[in-house]
Parts: sequence; C-alpha cells; structure tokens
Amino acid sequence: MTSIVLFGPPGAGKGTQAARITESTGLPQVSTGDMLRAAVKNGTETGIAAKEYMDAGKLVPDSIIIELIRDRVQQPDAKNGLMFDGFPRTIPQAEALSTITEVTHVIAIEVPDGKIVERICGRFSCVSCGAVFHDIFNKTTVEGVCDQCGSTEFKRRADDNETTVLQRLGAYHEQTSPLANWYDEQGIFHRIDGDRDIDKITIDILQALS
Ligand code: ADP
Ligand code: ADP
Ligand code: ZN
Repeated sequence: MTSIVLFGPPGAGKGTQAARITESTGLPQVSTGDMLRAAVKNGTETGIAAKEYMDAGKLVPDSIIIELIRDRVQQPDAKNGLMFDGFPRTIPQAEALSTITEVTHVIAIEVPDGKIVERICGRFSCVSCGAVFHDIFNKTTVEGVCDQCGSTEFKRRADDNETTVLQRLGAYHEQTSPLANWYDEQGIFHRIDGDRDIDKITIDILQALS
C-alpha cells in the first residue's frame, strides 16, 4: 500500500484538489476534518472529545487522530493506498502514518497567509454531495444550484469565521509546518503554487505524481 499526502494551510485548496485527484488516480480521499465533523454530528465518543478543539481552531490530540486513521486503513477500499487531505498535521502523526503505509508523495499547496481569510470566509459546500465552492473565486455555474449534483441546499462550516481561521493558521505555522522539512529530507516533498487558477494547480499536481 502506498499513499499520497496533501499538505497546506487551511483554505489552501486541499479538498478542492483532492476531489480532482481522486478522479484521476482512483485513490480514495481521506479527510480527517470530514471524519471528525461526521463524528461530532453523530455524537460519538471521538466527536465529543474532538469538538471543543475544533470549535477553538486548535488541533485535536494526536491519539484521537491516529486512532481514526488506524480504523480507516482497515477498510477494503484502502488496499491500493489512500490520499490524505489534512493529515498528518504533526510529526507524531507523520511518524504513526509511516508505520501504517508508505507515503510516496507529499504535495504542498502553498498560499500566502494574506489570502487565507478570504478563501475560508467565502467557502460553502453542497449538502448532498459535498462539492466545495467559493462566493467569489469558485461560484456555482447557476446561482444556488450545485454544479455536480443539482442540489439547491448548501452549508457553511461554523469554524469558517475570521477569528477561528486566524487561530487555525497559527496552529498550522506552529505545529504543522515543521513537517515540511521532515518530508523534504525524505525527498518526497513537492511544492505547488496554490495561488493560481484551480485547473492549473491540478495539472501541476498530476505532473508531480506521475
Ligand atoms: P482546504 O481543504 O485546504 O481547507 P478548500 O479546498 O476547501 O481548502 O478551499 C478553500 C476555499 O477556497 C473554497 O471555498 C474553494 O472553493 C476555494 N478555492 C480552492 N482553490 C482555489 C484557488 N486555486 N483559487 C481561489 N479559490 C480557491
Ligand atoms: P481546514 O483544512 O480548513 O483547516 P479541516 O476540515 O481539515 O479544516 O479541519 C478542521 C478541524 O479539524 C481543524 O481545525 C482541527 O481542529 C481538526 N483536525 C482535522 N484534521 C486534523 C489533524 N490531522 N490533526 C489534528 N486536528 C485535526
Ligand atoms: Zn452537490
């Protein structure tokens, strides 16, 4: 089993690109953020433990995240590898991952801090299929209708507000960005300019993976 990691600050475009890469590579997308939000919604023990950290824009403790990933890799669709989106975010998480699967590519989507708040505060997604859009940068083709599934119901994340975003960005710089060197030393780290057209970024990522 070999896997890919999508790395970058909140709002870099990891989820947006993950959906496209899944289409080309067939690797299932694994978003720890999505898994945690599902756990919170379902009121599981994990969800109850994670919620206060997520609401505050802080990282959820490593033990909880590693447990989620250990369960996820047991699923039958993980046999050819996975594409991780928003995981690992700390060195202990990356060390745990290295004992579970071989990471062949870390794709770092780079976006300057000054652009993150506008990215996050304009984000919304389709309630039915999860497709992600933006008020200004990635609108639906027809206003109020999902391009992917035709649904007319959308939602916004409670933590996508300016205060929490700045907190999440701080956590990224303090706890997650040291992973860049860690992976760079292994020769598997690919930097992609994420402050461009969505299609151009996808082309560069697919090239880095080939
Ligand atoms: P992440 O998963 O890294 O948090 P998302 O993929 O959810 O990021 O993207 C954050 C927001 O920015 C979304 O509203 C998305 O539509 C928008 N977005 C994604 N890629 C770009 C891009 N290249 N340029 C402008 N906006 C983008
Ligand atoms: P974004 O990419 O927009 O920051 P995510 O959906 O990836 O958002 O994560 C939302 C929240 O879930 C984070 O602010 C954090 O509290 C928690 N979280 C997600 N993934 C991890 C992880 N790998 N380690 C620790 N906390 C995580
Ligand atoms: Zn949809």
